[in-house]
Amino acid sequence: MMKQYDYLIVGAGLFGAVFAHQMTTLGKRCCVVDRRPHIAGNVYTEAIEGIDVHCYGAHIFHTSDREVWDFLGQFCSWIPFINSPIANYHGELYNLPFNMNTFYQMWGVTTPEAAMAKIETQRNGISQPSNLEEQAISLVGTDIYEKLIRGYTEKQWGRSCRDLPAFIIRRLPVRFRFDNNYFNDPYQGIPTEGYTRICEKLLEGTDVILNTDYLLCRRELNPLADRVLYTGCIDEFFGYCYGALEYRSLRFETEVLDLPNYQGVAAMNFTDTQTPYTRIIEHKHFTFGTQEKTVITREYPSPWKKGMEPYYPVADEKNLALYRRYAALSESSGVLFGGRLAEYKYYDMDKVVRSAMNLARKEAAE
Ligand code: FAD
Repeated sequence: MMKQYDYLIVGAGLFGAVFAHQMTTLGKRCCVVDRRPHIAGNVYTEAIEGIDVHCYGAHIFHTSDREVWDFLGQFCSWIPFINSPIANYHGELYNLPFNMNTFYQMWGVTTPEAAMAKIETQRNGISQPSNLEEQAISLVGTDIYEKLIRGYTEKQWGRSCRDLPAFIIRRLPVRFRFDNNYFNDPYQGIPTEGYTRICEKLLEGTDVILNTDYLLCRRELNPLADRVLYTGCIDEFFGYCYGALEYRSLRFETEVLDLPNYQGVAAMNFTDTQTPYTRIIEHKHFTFGTQEKTVITREYPSPWKKGMEPYYPVADEKNLALYRRYAALSESSGVLFGGRLAEYKYYDMDKVVRSAMNLARKEAAE
């Protein structure tokens, strides 16, 4: 008997929404289920005081993938936002990423040659870094490590930089130009109407069921569709049969302030160890807002336990080995898996869109 849907898609985040859109365009019938009360997963934005608030952390879209940029451009217009965060170390302000402005603020050096020479004197002759501290010092020297990296990183990961692997900051952006543009990608922006609106448009023509945990209703939901795509946590799908994959979590504290401009920048990183939060986001600055009030969010890193939001995978060898065991199980399950939670991977939005488009192409070819 013909089933009601071709695809049951678990997760209304970017991965699920892009996949649903692509398959619907090909004439397939899709149903998306999410346990949250809203669509858009972690890119969900909500209007507070007329300001688009990024509810699960600041999201800046950036990509070098022209096809992905053009694809999303069908569903939004972009405000050309260039990410230029500020680091605050006990009230001293520095531009990020590390560039000639930072080096001038740190040491008063005015030429690339002088900045390189200064860093060279602080590299402590480390050639084979064995942990994150040594890696950072070998790249940018001790001053920048102590003031701008150590506190932030230790708060973020809840561990000493000496106990963190070097690979976490292998690609630390260091520029010997006066250039505060955090990303190297040619296409960057914030969607004018927010990411939730993009997902609404992507999900046009798809049935959406919210407040429903697939894992609790598999028996009722599975018979509805020929195929299931699952974008939730892979270990949870398999009942944690090999144990739980580890994550770091975040707690967000959002406040409406009765003033038009609180910190003058969208993202300020607090890089000392004493301040308990890592960042303050002032949402209106993503869209050059002119509202009378402002909304800020403090981000507090926190350990993760089952039941909390899993934000950052702890992608060390132990967890990656565990993930590979779950991935091997998934291959014979008959279910499709995709997205940041199912692949246990930190995925920027553009990579998620690309990956969902690729999966849809593969499905269409079968
Ligand atoms: P998600 O958005 O997590 O969607 C998965 C959905 O599945 C969720 O809605 C969840 O409720 C649902 N689900 C899970 N299990 C079940 C179940 N059993 N039943 C029903 N529903 C279920 N990327 C950038 O490009 N730029 C940025 O600036 C950026 N900033 C970020 C900041 C933070 C703090 C974080 C954590 C990520 C950031 N990202 C950024 C990455 C971005 O959030 C991800 O690329 C994107 O959200 C991943 O989409 P997804 O669909 O894979 O996952």
